[in-house]
Amino acid sequence: MTLARSHPYLCHVVPKDKSPSSTGYSPSFTDSIDSPNVIPSGPREQTSASSQLTRLSSSSSKRNEVKVVACFGYHPWFVHRYTLHDTPPDKSTHYRSLFLSHKPTTTQKQLLDTLLPYLPDPIPFRPLLNGVRANIERCLKNGKLVMLGEVGLDGQARLRWPSEARHLYVEKSSMEGVWNDLKDQTKSGGNDETRRGQDDDEEWKRLTPFKTVLSHQRAILDAQLELAVELGINVSLHSVAAPGPTAEALLALKKKHGKHFTHRVNVDLHSAGGWSPSFWTQTAKNLPNLYASPSILITGRSISAPDLIRSISPDKLLVESDSHDVRLSGQLVWAACVWIASCRSWRLEGSTPPTTGVRGKEQNTGSKWGSETGKESENKERENDRTVDPTEPYETDGDEVWTVRQLERNWRRFMKLDE
Ligand SMILES: [Zn+2]
Repeated sequence: MTLARSHPYLCHVVPKDKSPSSTGYSPSFTDSIDSPNVIPSGPREQTSASSQLTRLSSSSSKRNEVKVVACFGYHPWFVHRYTLHDTPPDKSTHYRSLFLSHKPTTTQKQLLDTLLPYLPDPIPFRPLLNGVRANIERCLKNGKLVMLGEVGLDGQARLRWPSEARHLYVEKSSMEGVWNDLKDQTKSGGNDETRRGQDDDEEWKRLTPFKTVLSHQRAILDAQLELAVELGINVSLHSVAAPGPTAEALLALKKKHGKHFTHRVNVDLHSAGGWSPSFWTQTAKNLPNLYASPSILITGRSISAPDLIRSISPDKLLVESDSHDVRLSGQLVWAACVWIASCRSWRLEGSTPPTTGVRGKEQNTGSKWGSETGKESENKERENDRTVDPTEPYETDGDEVWTVRQLERNWRRFMKLDE
């Protein structure tokens, strides 16, 4: 096992959307379930929480300590449940404003009317935001690392068909017209058919065509971002199919708060949000506090991802798994490191020297992180230690950058750990 491979120093962990804890952070995230592009609708699914798992290394006595950074916030998949009115409107008014605001079809109107009894009453968001504030302030008071997140915008997420209305899905599916209209929209990445047989014992997962209007998502996001600026904490930002609106939200915050935002609050666009390389470059120019953490599972879906990785400033790259399964975190973070190293032509700790004629440092010095061709015993000793000290200067061979240490230094800068 290489040293770097055993060193999952940062991964983004997705929330469990079935049994949220009252604190918004569940330590049982190891068995969390993620449903990309699905807005849960059940009453058990009212909060979102995510966590950043990191194994930090430093020269302090806390060396090699595993730390979890709690994150508090409301994810865009859930925000249809909340109203910004202190006195909630009735269900019909609320959901119509969220789901039927843009040229709804007759079928969609009928479907919403049908499902309305099974949707939860809207909940005022202000008290929930106060809860987020209280959680964050408690962490800060106790000297714990804390972030806002995941929060963000999602242009693709669709309301999950309420499990209590499961019988209606079956009935509707036999109705010509309704089914024809819905069947394309209820596919979930082609997985529905394969899931169909599994769902008897698992959580009901079907989608409606309803997406929460972006203006509502933005209002919920803005309220939470204001809190991050006020409290000076970082943000884990979800952005799917919404690069323009996401950038607008961040730039509006910069316009309003200036350096109070850009120099106090770092923002991680997790999995790089599916942004195009050119859009990233253009936006990052104006937002010096914007980082991105590519992942194999999500970022890797895009054909332009390698170009995106190359377009991100080396000091703004983070890395994540973006997997619900924490058991895969080490492998996925390592895979992302390998990928980033490949895209950027960076050296990779623990790997054999490139064969492109560039001489690896371990060949003449017995690199601390290199293959076991040099000082084997020293390497093994350090492998057992399983840490990389990011406070050490980068080991470079000419202009080469060592991936793990570069990413870890970025993480420390992002989290302001050395300030
Ligand atoms: Zn996300």
